[in-house]
Amino acid sequence: MSAGQQAVSPLITCEHGGNAVPERWRYLFREHESLLDSHLGFDRGSLDVARALARKLRAPLLFGRYTRLLVDLNRSADHPRHFSKFTRVLPAGERQMLDDEYWRPHWARYGQLLHGLPGRVVHVACHSFAPVLHGREREVDVALLYDPARAGERAWCRLLADRIRSVSPDLRVRMNYPYRGTSNGMGQQHRQWFGDECLITVELEVNQALCDREDWTGVVHLLTDTIEWSLHRESSS
Ligand SMILES: [Zn+2]
Repeated sequence: MSAGQQAVSPLITCEHGGNAVPERWRYLFREHESLLDSHLGFDRGSLDVARALARKLRAPLLFGRYTRLLVDLNRSADHPRHFSKFTRVLPAGERQMLDDEYWRPHWARYGQLLHGLPGRVVHVACHSFAPVLHGREREVDVALLYDPARAGERAWCRLLADRIRSVSPDLRVRMNYPYRGTSNGMGQQHRQWFGDECLITVELEVNQALCDREDWTGVVHLLTDTIEWSLHRESSS
């Protein structure tokens, strides 16, 4: 990150934080309740990280409390997986209702904050991923997803990864794996309107296997300490 003396405003989001289902939509998931608790329903542990980060950095926090199987807050309006197989088949009026109640307010608030926060916004979107997918183990604990074409994101992620590796060498840190930082998502969609000089947007992905370890709280602290350290280092440079 090379913001010089420019102010830096952290912003934390957690699109897949919860798996609640409002009463009105509960019938959709009858006999599919186990899906709500799986990685398809929400990102387990991601809200722990997001809340801790927002508290530590005194940053605004936007999070989804309802399952992504209603409407996915991290997919653009026209993306094929914006709605899930449970909601894609609903009449247009009901899909509109889901958009208006859940998706639109999240994206609108995010846009307002990007315009309103002073200086360069450093957005951390907190997510988590299943340790095994389609029988293949994902050999990574913490992943940083960014756009390699944006120098600010590239430099900041490198700084974070080096720091995590030096403080906690047993954690496997990777970049743009198991997903690419340029895949469809809320941060990615906003890169087209906000240049590198005014927005850094990174997805912080943690392996859900970490949430089951007894040192999970320690991992959360490590991540929040590292990010706080990097921002402090930046603003005092
Ligand atoms: Zn997610």
